[in-house]
Amino acid sequence: MDPETRKQIEWILMPPLMEVLPHQFENGARFKGFRALCDYCGGEIRLPQVHGGIVSLSHNRCVVNARARCPECAMHCEYHYLLDAEGEMSARRLAGPDDHLAQ
Ligand SMILES: [Zn+2]
Repeated sequence: MDPETRKQIEWILMPPLMEVLPHQFENGARFKGFRALCDYCGGEIRLPQVHGGIVSLSHNRCVVNARARCPECAMHCEYHYLLDAEGEMSARRLAGPDDHLAQ
């Protein structure tokens, strides 16, 4: 199976990210989603096209593990963000599509 087909199947199997949004942290901060831009063509990917989930790491930190299908070029992009709601909310994109999240 070529990598793009594998990504497509994984994307289909993941629930829409919107189902778990907004994510509420214990300190009351809320994460309502992000503006995804395609890694391949730079096109904007709207939230309904983003699938995935959110894993809490601690009270005010979580990892967003999401994939999106670009409506422009039909490529699948992967987004891994570490969200930190301690103080000012920050989002850091984690490196590499092949990163696997350690539990
Ligand atoms: Zn694209």
